[in-house]
Amino acid sequence: MESLSTQLLVIGGGPGGYVAAIRAAQLGIATTLVEGGVLGGTCLNIGCIPSKALIHAAEAFEQARHQAAASPLGIRVAAPQIEIAQTVQWKDGIVRRLTAGVGALLKKAGVRVVPGWARVIDGKAVEVQGPAPESAGTGGAAATPGARIACEHLLLATGSVPQSLASMPFGGRVISSTEALAPQRLPARLVVVGAGYIGLELGMAYRKLGVEVAVVEALERVLPVYDEELTRPLRASLQRQGIALHLGCRVQGLNAAGDAVRVQDASGDAVELPADQVLVAVGRAPRTQGWGLERLMLDMRGATVRIDDRCRTSMRNVWAIGDLTGEPMLAHRAMAQGEMVAEIIAGQRRRFTPAAIPAVCFTDPEIVVVGRTPPEALEAGLDCITARFPFTANGRAMTLESTDGFVRVVARRDDHLIVGWQAVGRGVSELSAAFSQSIEMGARLEDVAGTIHAHPSLGEAVQEAAFRALGRAIHV
Ligand SMILES: Cc1cc2nc3c(=O)[nH]c(=O)nc-3n(C[C@H](O)[C@H](O)[C@H](O)COP(=O)(O)OP(=O)(O)OC[C@H]3O[C@@H](n4cnc5c(N)ncnc54)[C@H](O)[C@@H]3O)c2cc1C
Repeated sequence: MESLSTQLLVIGGGPGGYVAAIRAAQLGIATTLVEGGVLGGTCLNIGCIPSKALIHAAEAFEQARHQAAASPLGIRVAAPQIEIAQTVQWKDGIVRRLTAGVGALLKKAGVRVVPGWARVIDGKAVEVQGPAPESAGTGGAAATPGARIACEHLLLATGSVPQSLASMPFGGRVISSTEALAPQRLPARLVVVGAGYIGLELGMAYRKLGVEVAVVEALERVLPVYDEELTRPLRASLQRQGIALHLGCRVQGLNAAGDAVRVQDASGDAVELPADQVLVAVGRAPRTQGWGLERLMLDMRGATVRIDDRCRTSMRNVWAIGDLTGEPMLAHRAMAQGEMVAEIIAGQRRRFTPAAIPAVCFTDPEIVVVGRTPPEALEAGLDCITARFPFTANGRAMTLESTDGFVRVVARRDDHLIVGWQAVGRGVSELSAAFSQSIEMGARLEDVAGTIHAHPSLGEAVQEAAFRALGRAIHV
């Protein structure tokens, strides 16, 4: 077995791990990254990027069908068809380009990439087993299977895995988001279990591709982490699109024939929902099993590795980032933590104290949440002003045929400091940068109201929400 040594050893080449490795190498730290699957992790291979590609394809198809049916725009096209295998190939092409790009960036930065599955021996050493042949595409430097690597710093970035249901384990018709992102054929009927963002994003995409979709959720609301006002336009859209919602319902498992999901509804009655496929999207669990984590005997917080505001674990020079450390399980959080850990190891004074971490649901309409919502502000004991500006009063939204939704701002009443932004509507994901910047920079309502926003743009609704909060809206 080959013996290697390095200053920083990163386990996992997802957005957390690869960003940490690149930044560390930029700062002159000898860095080795071990990846057992494909560089880019969940995000690039089976998460953010492929889901957004599929959503885009589904939207393009739905648009074509919409124009073919009765185009208000005067477009005349014949009824479109979709070849899903080609859609998947196109999506895979994007994934390949991005994952190869990560390999090239790591190489350029001078990171040694070791393909294979790491197993922790102790806080200063891991063993790496060679990768399975089909997952050898880690990009970077030459493969070193069967290596033992000694390190000064160990960074754990192993990510997360889809959570399964005891009553309906994965296999056969029961799939996770991973399989849902690579359909070779579309099912006629899909039951989605879980009305969180992954279930709804994929459920809506499948519906637009022509699949009959039913969503089952144990709680009484879709996207239950967000407030009712914010999710109302989404709920209306789900209804318009013909997605059957079964809220307050408990899944009991598949029926005896295996072709329907048995559900207990809110009043305790049993219902069977016919399903050619069942997508279980009830959350993700940190990947803590199977790689020797227990040998480190780290302090845990529930099922996640406990970290402090510098991403230090309870063992000196052992760090953890990303999904392994819990919510919010988002790629941009993992990346920001990774960059910070690299800088701390290089001797910089950093803490992970973002004013806000944006969250976007790429549903139709999209939802963006940055900072505190009105109920959260109330719960935190803040006296706040809340103002909404509807897209029905925004010219750009009209030209895009998407006037559903609004921008909402939450600001302290005393000094007008903005503590939260939320938006719901088509294309609002792109507003998340402006929202995050304004909160991180400590903007007040007057700052946003006094900034000239381009006309016509959805961004004008941001300025107008600030105007409205100050009691001087122009366009509503
Ligand atoms: C369908 C879906 C859609 C999503 N959409 C979004 C979105 O729009 N926006 C967003 O911000 N987030 C989204 N996410 C979440 C996002 O993908 C994760 O938050 C992010 O990938 C976490 O990054 P990470 O680096 O912590 O872990 P991961 O991306 O999970 O990477 C961990 C890596 O570690 C490797 N690994 C694990 N154990 C070992 C070992 N022992 N040895 C070697 N390698 C190992 C794995 O192979 C993997 O490549 C989505 C997730 C899913 C499933």
